[in-house]
Amino acid sequence: MSFIRVALDVPLPTLFDYRAAAATSDDIGARVLVPFGRTIAVGVIVELASTTSLPPQRVRRALSILRDVPPLPADILGLLKFCSDYYHHPLGEVVLNALPTRLRQRQAFQGEKATHYRLTGAGLAVAAESLPRRATIKLELLRLLRTAEAGIDEAVLRAIAPRAAAALKTMTEHGWIERVAVARELPRAGAVALRVVPGPALTDEQHAAVASVRSADAGFTPWLLHGVTGSGKTEVYLQLVGDLLACGKQVLLLVPEINLTPQLEALVHARFPDTLLAALHSGLNESERLHNWLAAQSGAAGIVLGTRLAVFTPLPKLGLVVVDEEQDSSFKQTDGLRYSARDLALWRAKQLAIPIVLGSATPALETFHKALNGSYRTLALTRRVNTMPPVIECIDTRREPLIDGMSQALLSALRITMKRGEQSLVFINRRGFAPVLMCPSCGWTSGCERCSAKLVLHLQEQRLRCHHCGHQERVPRACPQCGNQDLKPLGQGTQRIESALARILPSARILRIDRDSTRRKRAWHEMRRQIHAQEVDILVGTQILAKGHDFPQLNLVGVVNADSSLYSTDFRASERLFARLTQVAGRAGRGASRGRVMIQTDFPAHVLYQALCRDDYPAFAKELLAERKQAGFPPFVYQAVLRAEASRLETALEFLIRAAREGAKVESSVTIYDPVPAGMPRRAGLERAQLTVQARSRPGLHAFLRAWQVRLGHAAGRKVRWALDVDPLEL
Ligand code: ADP
Ligand code: ZN
Ligand code: ZN
Repeated sequence: MSFIRVALDVPLPTLFDYRAAAATSDDIGARVLVPFGRTIAVGVIVELASTTSLPPQRVRRALSILRDVPPLPADILGLLKFCSDYYHHPLGEVVLNALPTRLRQRQAFQGEKATHYRLTGAGLAVAAESLPRRATIKLELLRLLRTAEAGIDEAVLRAIAPRAAAALKTMTEHGWIERVAVARELPRAGAVALRVVPGPALTDEQHAAVASVRSADAGFTPWLLHGVTGSGKTEVYLQLVGDLLACGKQVLLLVPEINLTPQLEALVHARFPDTLLAALHSGLNESERLHNWLAAQSGAAGIVLGTRLAVFTPLPKLGLVVVDEEQDSSFKQTDGLRYSARDLALWRAKQLAIPIVLGSATPALETFHKALNGSYRTLALTRRVNTMPPVIECIDTRREPLIDGMSQALLSALRITMKRGEQSLVFINRRGFAPVLMCPSCGWTSGCERCSAKLVLHLQEQRLRCHHCGHQERVPRACPQCGNQDLKPLGQGTQRIESALARILPSARILRIDRDSTRRKRAWHEMRRQIHAQEVDILVGTQILAKGHDFPQLNLVGVVNADSSLYSTDFRASERLFARLTQVAGRAGRGASRGRVMIQTDFPAHVLYQALCRDDYPAFAKELLAERKQAGFPPFVYQAVLRAEASRLETALEFLIRAAREGAKVESSVTIYDPVPAGMPRRAGLERAQLTVQARSRPGLHAFLRAWQVRLGHAAGRKVRWALDVDPLEL
């Protein structure tokens, strides 16, 4: 073979041919340096070829094939090709996007330096009995370090427990251990016997769920693990993970948020102490990410725990995929390559003929529908493990005067909970002090110049901030329009609730948890510690707090301002609201006493709140599905959205009108809707519009999109940026 076809990180739907006489089939999936224009680019070899359609004099020679790390395996190349086809996104961008940044750079990978800790003579002499029994982390570190004369990687030791880093520091100060820099070896798959620390005895429902998966035929089986909050879904995952590890297989565990990884990581580590766990998420630095990726690719890591990007990780011995909180919209990327990690995970499991478990208390309607019609098999956990489900009630806010957005009923419940020495959470899905600043005398409001959105008042920082484009400015002293000095914050955000509570309940220890207060590295970690150590009475937080956390002392949850998405134009809004409220409510009463959830609303009779109070997702979901079927919405139809951006709205709309006309020329039965301005028409100085196309069948939609995409390229012109969003979650 004398040619290679190379994927390059460029927005063109094509591979690039180069001469490479020395390339063999072993190099498929390898990185390669090639001349591109006047620069040198890193690409990935996707195919070998004996001919090329280019004139021979135009085919350039590849500079070198990088064999420093193993090539991408065939199944991953297959996944990436599928991803490119399905999302109608250039293969080169898809392939390069899947590589850790360090492997996209031109320098060959030279191996890394790592820091190890090892015992000193003094450390070796420390007798375990001389330490207090509660110094569990130090004892574990000493035990581990005794087994490894050359020392152990700092990252491995830190992963043992959140407080391992502090323990390492103290132990260094005592002179028990020392740091040494070593060349980091790539982890290799070793034949270590699996050590499993037993977990709790399973409940009957957990047992039945695990038994169903165990007794199923080998091969691709998609499971929906539908378990109410607190029903112990994680325990089911861990049992299944244990089965797979025992057969020497790897497991891919996908979670929606990096905030959730430390907790799960600690749990998994405690259960399988000798199994290498590779975390993969955007919170890692590049060398950590590469290291973990290589540990996964070599087969050394038994478990890969990551956010959506981890779905592309090469795993030679993959035997099971778990997607926790599968309904979560963070599995869908919303710019660039708009893929759904959950859907790709399903494709991957099917391709490899392995089981996949989708876990949720409120499955996505797409998933629920497939479970109802039998394409997925259902595992149900209907009861909490040791505790009663929380009591959920609505507080009718039409009748009650609110104090800074909070009702008397909620305030007095907060007071009582605090007296009992238990924790509460006030949930409000808006950060900042108030969503807008306004002038009562002329009606001016703080708008963002670059977006069709309001600037949010951040009182603590004395700033007005746009949550969409990042623009910020000082809080004006007087109305810019009429000079009135008495500007009023309108509505509530976390900061306002926090300061109101501090005023009304002066003795309460309040902790605000939102994107602003957790921005600092390890801030969230410290907050979790404070909550567990009961140094906090009332948490005020956004949805950062809602997901998956287990705070045993938390008994009361108050929900403020939930109504805003009740009558949204987005047909998915109520599905999402139900999921979010179920998650928040699920934080209550996970410890000894029964939880209570108070939802403040102007619409207590709304079906959504009614179903929520009965804790009856299936009934609500079936109702939504019936509505969707009637109205012709997903999952009964398949959609794609063509999104366009330009400096003028007319430019974007004109392009979409041309696009619709081009679409009408394509032979197909898809419905092409009229172009409309986007839900938020202006963002970061660009005007946005969109056009939805819809089909009764998936293949029908994709056949149309393929033909249409070619025509779109010609219709666009320079002034418009456009992108296709397949299976869009936001309209
Ligand atoms: P979910 O993810 O379904 O909301 P979790 O997996 O977080 O629930 O489990 C809720 C709590 O119950 C956790 O504290 C977990 O440790 C505990 N738990 C789970 N299974 C069992 C069991 N079989 N016996 C005792 N405790 C359990
Ligand atoms: Zn004014
Ligand atoms: Zn803005």
